Amino acid sequence: MTKALRPDVFYLEELKNIFGPVQILKQPAPELSNLPIPKLIIDRNSKTDESSTVAWCPLIDKWAEHGDIAFADGRGKIRIVLSKKANANTLLVTEQCDNLCHFCSQPPRKIDDKILFAFAAQSIVSFNSHHVIGISGGEPLLDQSSIFNFFKILDEFKNKTPLHILSNGRAFKDKAFTKRFIESAKLRDVEIGIPLYSTSSRIHDYLVNKEGAWNDTVKGLINAGNMGLPIEIRVIPTKQNYCEISAIVEMALTCLNSITRISIMNLEQTGWAKKNWNNLYVKPDKYLDELENACQLGNRFGTEISLFNYPLCHLNSSLYKYSKKSISDWKNTFPSNCNYCVEKEQCGGFFTSTKNIEVKPLGQIL
Ligand code: SF4
Repeated sequence: MTKALRPDVFYLEELKNIFGPVQILKQPAPELSNLPIPKLIIDRNSKTDESSTVAWCPLIDKWAEHGDIAFADGRGKIRIVLSKKANANTLLVTEQCDNLCHFCSQPPRKIDDKILFAFAAQSIVSFNSHHVIGISGGEPLLDQSSIFNFFKILDEFKNKTPLHILSNGRAFKDKAFTKRFIESAKLRDVEIGIPLYSTSSRIHDYLVNKEGAWNDTVKGLINAGNMGLPIEIRVIPTKQNYCEISAIVEMALTCLNSITRISIMNLEQTGWAKKNWNNLYVKPDKYLDELENACQLGNRFGTEISLFNYPLCHLNSSLYKYSKKSISDWKNTFPSNCNYCVEKEQCGGFFTSTKNIEVKPLGQIL
């Protein structure tokens, strides 16, 4: 594993007995209100008291900002989960899921993790950001009472942080649930990211490893779209569906409502994708025409198409403008050859988990 742009895991002896979210503060007497979680003050001089833990760690001082949220594992390890320095912030709210995608980056575990939803709500309230926070799983909409309780806590603290919720969309096949969800979320901007991997139920169901999933997801997309919930469609090209990327985009743009944008995402070599890599991964040069067609369709319908997780030297130059620096900085890396590339500033680089990285530094005289 190569080095990430922003380290996010640290160790602090002083936090050995704390489990759950903590808020990092840089001054002893912070002027922050509404703090329902323990405080960690990074300071050389003050002393730990009943209301906060004080510790000094130059690395946390360097990489964390006043007000960031970290998750403590009860053994002294902390991971910064909401960071003002980060290019994107996402919270995991469950490890349970009703799909079993062959490329799942966070394979489901049958454990009681209901507490994660409560931790997420506390973290969002304490972080109190106006920037979008991602909510992911597992499947965040699997346990309906947890999601409604989550919104209730945010409402009680008058929190308005905009949210992007990544869901397989199956829960929205139930119109009553969809209506209640929209009502519960109404105090903030919410966008749902829903993956659609094929125009055919056979291929989608194979990729998510669950018979009947496509029917549920498509019904969910229709219900949520018709009720006005903003939807980002997500597509991951694989050996099974790369020939139909533009057909999936066309289906989304012509058959569904409330599609705000479509993101086409290069596969991440982590979780179950690692063991299934040879069966799934297809190099982008095999489907550059499909990407071109998909982007043209987006232009014609006036819907934003984005390419996530593609190094620029794996694309045609005509596609650069659709490419986003989408990899979270704590798992983003560039091999040393990229230092010779004129496009490095614009490029999204690689996941730290990527094996056998291939780069072709741009602008070099060969
Ligand atoms: S050489 Fe590196 S910086 Fe340049 S486009 Fe490729 S991955 Fe990006």
